[in-house]
Amino acid sequence: MSTAEKTIELGLPTVPRARKPREVIEAAAPTDTKKVLLAAPRGYCAGVDRAVIAVEKALDHYGAPVYVRKQIVHNRHVVETLEAQGAIFVDEVDEVPEGSVTVFSAHGVSPAVIAESEDRQLNTIDATCPLVSKVHREAVRFAKQDYDILLIGHEGHEEVEGTAGEAPDHVQIVNSPDEVDKVTVRDPEKVVWISQTTLSVDETLETVARLKERFPTLQDPPSDDICYATSNRQGAIKEIAPQADLVIVVGSTNSSNSVRLMEVALEYGAKASYLVDYANEVDETWFEGVTTVGVTSGASVPEVLVQDVLRLLADYGYEDVQPVETAKEDILFSLPKELRSALKNDTGAPAMRLGGRGEKPNR
Ligand code: SF4
Repeated sequence: MSTAEKTIELGLPTVPRARKPREVIEAAAPTDTKKVLLAAPRGYCAGVDRAVIAVEKALDHYGAPVYVRKQIVHNRHVVETLEAQGAIFVDEVDEVPEGSVTVFSAHGVSPAVIAESEDRQLNTIDATCPLVSKVHREAVRFAKQDYDILLIGHEGHEEVEGTAGEAPDHVQIVNSPDEVDKVTVRDPEKVVWISQTTLSVDETLETVARLKERFPTLQDPPSDDICYATSNRQGAIKEIAPQADLVIVVGSTNSSNSVRLMEVALEYGAKASYLVDYANEVDETWFEGVTTVGVTSGASVPEVLVQDVLRLLADYGYEDVQPVETAKEDILFSLPKELRSALKNDTGAPAMRLGGRGEKPNR
């Protein structure tokens, strides 16, 4: 099947499609050949786990409401669950009553947002993922050295806005390889690239290769900016995709790393790939003629949502679930420092709840 014929489904199929009788769909592939290839790693990364726990702990400690600038992580279920517990999500800090407890999301904020929060005397908790903060520090450092900084990333994404805001006079955003020709710099000998953490590894390499054709002395960032969680999840789906008739990615449409997983699945040979927030968005017509289903989830997705999809697949005869593990993850991050000291004052002991796999049942 050509790339053009492959199915990309970004939207949620909220309108039921014409459905065939279940027996017809089940008969399309004999049950004893049906299987699921389950990606590992998948789901929660350490940065997401830390951010979600930060909001939960803030609610415990300060009581509701706790304000959160932007979605704490890009996942519908997580946001709705925290809202039910008393979190209020806002777009900008000017919507937050002065002096209120406010959490910055895992995607990070620019210095302008921090300054505005100080003006409003907000009690802020910075849940920016440490791996995003690392990219911010790179931007600051290279700007101080007066480099032109080419930030590979998606314009309008919160993380890119935050990173670019560290050095607006030095940063220009490069969305894709096709934009390379439009880049202009002051001194071609003094250019560095950095990137958003949740991009496609392959596409970013292509962008960098094209940038290096234009600027042969282009400097690399000190270490990879695409984070371990993004590249590990893409690595697992690259292994699965060539064997899969269908890949289901559990994740939200505004989750960059989840959308990238769907794209990577198609690039690496999956015949179709769909993104779903919940199992009830899976359309049974997707199973026609399908024997092997790949399943993965974005870095902001609680495991409970994947298990719901696996239960649904089992109902359709895909009971044989084979894990495909391509990497092990043991990265943990401590809670934001503002929260650690607040909790320490409560108990006298340092509060060091760390990130993990997000297996909690109700997130
Ligand atoms: S996806 Fe990567 S950068 Fe984003 S929160 Fe997770 S670990 Fe941090």
